[in-house]
Amino acid sequence: MSLSLDQDRPVPSSKAGDQPSGEVSLRHVSKVFPGRTGWLDKMTGRSSKDFLAIDDINIDIEHNTFVSIIGPSGCGKSTLLNIIAGLSYASSGSVTMDGQPIEGPGPDRGMVFQNYALMPWMTVVDNILFAVQTVFPKMPLAQQELIVQEHIQLVGLEGAERKHPHELSGGMRQRVGIARALAIDPQILLMDEPFGALDALTRGFLQEEIERIWERKRKTAIMITHSIDEALLLSDKIILMTRGPAARIDEVLEVPFERPRSRDSVEAHPAYRELKHEMEQHLYRETRAVEASRLG
Ligand code: ADP
Ligand code: MG
Repeated sequence: MSLSLDQDRPVPSSKAGDQPSGEVSLRHVSKVFPGRTGWLDKMTGRSSKDFLAIDDINIDIEHNTFVSIIGPSGCGKSTLLNIIAGLSYASSGSVTMDGQPIEGPGPDRGMVFQNYALMPWMTVVDNILFAVQTVFPKMPLAQQELIVQEHIQLVGLEGAERKHPHELSGGMRQRVGIARALAIDPQILLMDEPFGALDALTRGFLQEEIERIWERKRKTAIMITHSIDEALLLSDKIILMTRGPAARIDEVLEVPFERPRSRDSVEAHPAYRELKHEMEQHLYRETRAVEASRLG
């Protein structure tokens, strides 16, 4: 089934012609969470200090690449992704998409959340339809419904169309989350630990499903994960972040595995063990340093 989704959408000037779209560039991006003074601080005489979460981050993400961000807990991964999503802003530096500054959320970026963020009172169909109608308000209903049905099929939710989120397993809820993010036909898919709340088996299934979907849809994707194998299965590049405060990018790994990939093909690749080892060492070193600073 092929659909033209463009009729409703204003074409951004930078998208004219066949220029690649969905490119993200961060230059010297830092984020400071300002200290707060509340009534408790007045009583104790102390106020919290400004907190520099991420410092001088530089990233270039080319169109149609799958990039994972990995780093110790609390280092600033969500902060970074939220800035790209336009849900938060950088304290300094520039964040652009296809050359245009990112100044807020937009339909060019679809977001998948760890805790699904579905509307509990809406059915599967209505959750996805709501997003489609928000982004393509002038599109005829029949076409909107076609898009919803196409994405329900894409994520394998046929038969669950009329169910509510509470009637679904975690894995099925996240399928709705993924369908909703893709149904608005974004240039970029943003995922913040999308499988973090799922059991290992479901997680494994959904990872392979994402690989399959991504082979079909080929969008720029940026995913935060704690899982080394998840990052290796899905990514073209893996960004390793240092611990915070003032977290930075330590290294960007290129993942050379050919596509389409399966878990077996990835694990059989000669570069797999070395990449995995490098990531393990990085995470171990950074997490140990976080623990040491807490104790000391
Ligand atoms: P991660 O996603 O890597 O686990 P976060 O981006 O959520 O980390 O947080 C990075 C750091 O910034 C943490 O120390 C966190 O406590 C702090 N932080 C995040 N959001 C806020 C906020 N709104 N106000 C103050 N500090 C925050
Ligand atoms: Mg996070």
